Amino acid sequence: MDRKVEKKFWEGVRFLGAAPDECWIWGRGKSGNGYGELMQDGLKLLAHRVSAEIHFGENPGLDVLHSCDVKLCCNPAHLRYGNPSENMRDKLERHGGKTLTVQMVKTIRAMAKSGVKHYPLAKMFGISYPYLWRILTWQSWPTVDY
Ligand SMILES: [Zn+2]
Repeated sequence: MDRKVEKKFWEGVRFLGAAPDECWIWGRGKSGNGYGELMQDGLKLLAHRVSAEIHFGENPGLDVLHSCDVKLCCNPAHLRYGNPSENMRDKLERHGGKTLTVQMVKTIRAMAKSGVKHYPLAKMFGISYPYLWRILTWQSWPTVDY
Protein backbone atom coordinates (compact mmCIF):
# COMPACT_ATOMS: atom_id res chain seq x y z
CA MET A 1 0.00 0.00 0.00
CA ASP A 2 1.26 3.44 -1.03
CA ARG A 3 2.25 5.48 2.06
CA LYS A 4 0.55 8.59 0.67
CA VAL A 5 -2.69 6.69 0.16
CA GLU A 6 -2.46 5.26 3.65
CA LYS A 7 -1.98 8.74 5.11
CA LYS A 8 -4.99 10.05 3.20
CA PHE A 9 -6.99 7.13 4.43
CA TRP A 10 -6.34 7.82 8.12
CA GLU A 11 -7.06 11.51 7.58
CA GLY A 12 -10.39 10.75 5.97
CA VAL A 13 -11.82 8.29 8.47
CA ARG A 14 -14.17 9.52 11.19
CA PHE A 15 -14.30 7.48 14.34
CA LEU A 16 -17.81 7.81 15.69
CA GLY A 17 -17.51 6.06 19.00
CA ALA A 18 -14.93 4.76 21.38
CA ALA A 19 -15.96 1.15 20.89
CA PRO A 20 -13.68 -0.68 18.45
CA ASP A 21 -16.58 -2.48 16.82
CA GLU A 22 -18.38 0.68 15.71
CA CYS A 23 -18.40 1.74 12.09
CA TRP A 24 -15.56 3.94 10.87
CA ILE A 25 -17.33 6.39 8.63
CA TRP A 26 -15.53 7.87 5.67
CA GLY A 27 -15.72 11.67 5.97
CA ARG A 28 -14.35 12.81 2.61
CA GLY A 29 -15.52 12.28 -0.94
CA LYS A 30 -18.23 9.86 -1.94
CA SER A 31 -18.49 7.81 -5.11
CA GLY A 32 -21.57 7.80 -7.32
CA ASN A 33 -22.85 4.63 -5.73
CA GLY A 34 -22.35 5.77 -2.15
CA TYR A 35 -18.94 4.39 -1.21
CA GLY A 36 -16.17 6.44 0.37
CA GLU A 37 -13.71 7.68 -2.21
CA LEU A 38 -10.26 9.23 -2.19
CA MET A 39 -8.13 10.58 -4.97
CA GLN A 40 -4.51 9.64 -5.53
CA ASP A 41 -2.56 10.83 -8.57
CA GLY A 42 -5.79 11.41 -10.45
CA LEU A 43 -7.04 7.92 -9.65
CA LYS A 44 -10.20 7.31 -7.66
CA LEU A 45 -9.81 4.74 -4.93
CA LEU A 46 -12.60 3.34 -2.79
CA ALA A 47 -11.99 3.94 0.91
CA HIS A 48 -13.21 0.56 2.16
CA ARG A 49 -11.04 -1.21 -0.40
CA VAL A 50 -8.03 0.84 0.72
CA SER A 51 -8.82 -0.08 4.33
CA ALA A 52 -8.95 -3.77 3.43
CA GLU A 53 -5.56 -3.58 1.74
CA ILE A 54 -4.00 -1.74 4.67
CA HIS A 55 -5.28 -4.28 7.18
CA PHE A 56 -5.44 -7.56 5.28
CA GLY A 57 -2.74 -7.11 2.66
CA GLU A 58 -3.03 -6.85 -1.07
CA ASN A 59 -6.43 -7.62 -2.57
CA PRO A 60 -6.18 -10.80 -4.67
CA GLY A 61 -8.84 -9.41 -7.03
CA LEU A 62 -11.88 -9.97 -4.87
CA ASP A 63 -14.77 -7.81 -3.75
CA VAL A 64 -14.54 -6.18 -0.35
CA LEU A 65 -17.68 -7.08 1.55
CA HIS A 66 -19.29 -5.14 4.40
CA SER A 67 -20.79 -7.14 7.23
CA CYS A 68 -22.49 -3.97 8.53
CA ASP A 69 -24.10 -2.84 5.26
CA VAL A 70 -22.75 0.69 5.77
CA LYS A 71 -21.15 1.65 2.46
CA LEU A 72 -19.08 4.45 3.99
CA CYS A 73 -17.73 2.21 6.73
CA CYS A 74 -13.99 1.40 6.67
CA ASN A 75 -13.68 -0.57 9.91
CA PRO A 76 -11.63 -3.66 8.99
CA ALA A 77 -13.61 -5.61 11.59
CA HIS A 78 -16.63 -5.13 9.29
CA LEU A 79 -14.79 -5.92 6.07
CA ARG A 80 -13.63 -9.07 4.40
CA TYR A 81 -12.57 -10.28 1.00
CA GLY A 82 -15.13 -12.31 -0.90
CA ASN A 83 -16.25 -12.96 -4.43
CA PRO A 84 -19.10 -11.03 -6.09
CA SER A 85 -21.66 -13.84 -5.90
CA GLU A 86 -20.93 -14.14 -2.21
CA ASN A 87 -21.64 -10.44 -1.97
CA MET A 88 -25.09 -10.93 -3.41
CA ARG A 89 -25.89 -13.93 -1.29
CA ASP A 90 -24.72 -12.00 1.72
CA LYS A 91 -27.10 -9.14 1.02
CA LEU A 92 -30.02 -11.44 0.44
CA GLU A 93 -29.32 -13.35 3.61
CA ARG A 94 -29.07 -10.28 5.78
CA HIS A 95 -32.03 -8.65 4.13
CA GLY A 96 -34.08 -11.69 5.00
CA GLY A 97 -32.63 -11.81 8.46
CA LYS A 98 -33.68 -8.25 9.07
CA THR A 99 -37.16 -8.54 7.70
CA LEU A 100 -38.18 -11.82 9.25
CA THR A 101 -38.69 -12.63 12.88
CA VAL A 102 -38.35 -16.05 14.49
CA GLN A 103 -42.12 -16.20 14.70
CA MET A 104 -42.44 -15.48 10.98
CA VAL A 105 -39.95 -18.23 10.12
CA LYS A 106 -42.00 -20.67 12.19
CA THR A 107 -45.17 -19.53 10.47
CA ILE A 108 -43.59 -19.88 7.03
CA ARG A 109 -42.47 -23.43 7.76
CA ALA A 110 -45.86 -24.32 9.22
CA MET A 111 -47.72 -22.89 6.24
CA ALA A 112 -45.48 -24.70 3.74
CA LYS A 113 -46.02 -27.92 5.66
CA SER A 114 -49.76 -27.46 5.57
CA GLY A 115 -49.62 -27.22 1.78
CA VAL A 116 -49.40 -23.50 0.97
CA LYS A 117 -47.65 -23.14 -2.39
CA HIS A 118 -44.12 -21.80 -2.18
CA TYR A 119 -44.31 -18.90 -4.63
CA PRO A 120 -47.38 -17.26 -3.05
CA LEU A 121 -45.85 -17.88 0.34
CA ALA A 122 -42.63 -16.08 -0.57
CA LYS A 123 -44.67 -13.22 -1.98
CA MET A 124 -46.82 -13.03 1.13
CA PHE A 125 -43.78 -12.51 3.34
CA GLY A 126 -41.98 -10.29 0.85
CA ILE A 127 -38.98 -12.56 0.49
CA SER A 128 -37.32 -14.07 -2.57
CA TYR A 129 -38.07 -17.61 -3.63
CA PRO A 130 -34.45 -18.78 -3.15
CA TYR A 131 -34.51 -17.37 0.35
CA LEU A 132 -37.80 -19.13 1.11
CA TRP A 133 -36.28 -22.33 -0.16
CA ARG A 134 -33.30 -21.98 2.14
CA ILE A 135 -35.64 -21.42 5.07
CA LEU A 136 -37.63 -24.53 4.21
CA THR A 137 -34.50 -26.65 3.83
CA TRP A 138 -33.04 -25.30 7.09
CA GLN A 139 -30.06 -23.67 5.35
CA SER A 140 -31.29 -20.35 6.67
CA TRP A 141 -32.47 -20.01 10.23
CA PRO A 142 -31.17 -23.49 11.17
CA THR A 143 -31.47 -22.73 14.85
CA VAL A 144 -35.19 -22.04 14.69
CA ASP A 145 -36.85 -25.34 15.23
CA TYR A 146 -40.44 -25.94 14.48
ZN1 LIG B 1 -19.26 -0.85 9.73
